[in-house]
Amino acid sequence: MRWFRADLHIHSVLSPCGGLEMAPHDLVKRLQECKIDWFAITDHNTMANCPAYAAVAKDAGLFFSWGVEIQTSEEIHLLAYFDSPSQAQEFDTKLYNSLLPLENDAEYFGDQVVIDENENILRVEQRALINSSLWDLSQTAKTIMAYGGFAVPAHIDAGVNSIISQLGFMPEEPAFELFGVTAGLDMQDWRVRQPYFTKRSLIKASDAHYLADIGSGYSELYLAEASVAELQKAALGADGRHIKN
Ligand SMILES: [Zn+2]
Ligand SMILES: [Zn+2]
Repeated sequence: MRWFRADLHIHSVLSPCGGLEMAPHDLVKRLQECKIDWFAITDHNTMANCPAYAAVAKDAGLFFSWGVEIQTSEEIHLLAYFDSPSQAQEFDTKLYNSLLPLENDAEYFGDQVVIDENENILRVEQRALINSSLWDLSQTAKTIMAYGGFAVPAHIDAGVNSIISQLGFMPEEPAFELFGVTAGLDMQDWRVRQPYFTKRSLIKASDAHYLADIGSGYSELYLAEASVAELQKAALGADGRHIKN
C-alpha cells in the first residue's frame, strides 16, 4: 500500500459555471504542480468529458476516476464514482434521461463543451446541466449502487445543495460511508459542532471550477491502488487503509 494525494471533486469545461481554462492539459499540469496524483472529474449531471480527461491523465501518469455530481430532486448534490467506464456510461445515459428537459442559457451560465483529449470540441451540450434530476436522494443512491458506483454526499458542510441544507437533518436512509467536505473546512471544530460526523469518514476536495482553485482542498489516502473500490474500503478503515485530511 502507499499514499495517494487525491482531489476527487473537480469540474471540467463542460460544467457551465466552470472556466474554459479547465481544459485537460492545463488542468493536469496544475495538478502536478500541487503534487496531486489522483483526481476525478465530477461535472454537474454528466460524465461526457470523463474519457478526454482520463486519456490525458493516463499520458501524464496520473490516476483518474470517473465521477459525476448529481443534483437530486431535493437539490442535494451527490457525488458518484465508478471503476468501470462502461457501467459509468450506462449510468450516465440513465441519469441524462432523468434530467428535467430544460435548455442551457449559455449567455448566463456559459457554454457546456464536450471535448476530446486533444481539446477539440466534439459538441456543445444544449440541455441545462445545472438542473435537477427527477430522482430523489434515495432513488439516486440506489441507482448509483445498481451500476456498481459509490455514492458520496458532496460538500456536506455547505450552506446550499448539501443534504443538511436541503433536508435540515441527516436521514437514516440511505446510509453513506463517506462524506465530502468543502476545501476551507476546519474539520476538528466542525466534528465537535456536528456530533453525527464525529466518527464518520470525511474527504476533502477542491470542488474546483477554475485552475486557481486546484490545491485548495485534497485528502491523502493510504491504499493498495487508486480505485473507487479502495476508496470505499478506506472509508470503512478496512485492513489498514486510511484517509488523512
Ligand atoms: Zn455542488
Ligand atoms: Zn461541484
